[in-house]
Amino acid sequence: MATSKDRNRGSLGSLLQGLGRKPNAPRAEKAQPQQRYPYQLRDFFLSPAEIVFYKALSSVAPSNIAIFPKIRLADVVSINRSASPYASEARLYFSKIIQKHIDFLLCQADTLTPLVGIELEDSSRQESGRTEHDEFMEGVFEAANLPLVRFPAQSNYDSGEITRLLSPFWESPTPPRCPKCDKPMLIRTAKSGEYQGVKFYVCPDTKYCRTYFPVRST
Ligand SMILES: [Zn+2]
Repeated sequence: MATSKDRNRGSLGSLLQGLGRKPNAPRAEKAQPQQRYPYQLRDFFLSPAEIVFYKALSSVAPSNIAIFPKIRLADVVSINRSASPYASEARLYFSKIIQKHIDFLLCQADTLTPLVGIELEDSSRQESGRTEHDEFMEGVFEAANLPLVRFPAQSNYDSGEITRLLSPFWESPTPPRCPKCDKPMLIRTAKSGEYQGVKFYVCPDTKYCRTYFPVRST
């Protein structure tokens, strides 16, 4: 049976052993963090082309606009279960968006309501024309009632061109709230029909509300 003196010696021994160990010295019995979690910080979070565009966009975007680079598509859109009621089918559609990213998403800064998605087209995509990826993204954005704007990736950008293409989405700093359900309304442009090209405020709750009215140009 161990006496209290033995126990004390034992704990002092392990304490000395602990102190004697160099800080961060590897423990034989335990794998290094890098082995258990084989990750490292990327050199760049965005590609050089994306960084160039981000800087140009930041320099012209007003303060009421929040810019989110490289955002996961599945964090912005979800499966419309009334359009895809079967679980197996919904899983298939979800698998199509899980790996995809939107290059940039502009949101209303106060509500973080998505306003417009931006895709950068590198030179290979500019040459090959519209790809399957482009077609898919366009279809998803259209279904989600969210505009998508494409920019060719360039080494420098004309800030006037960025403003011209994107300002329609950030022109109204405080969009009106839906008179029916009080949600902040989105600006959308009619793509076809007799109102083609006309901007409308549209309730984001397209499933249950469907309130819309034209944006008055004042
Ligand atoms: Zn509404």
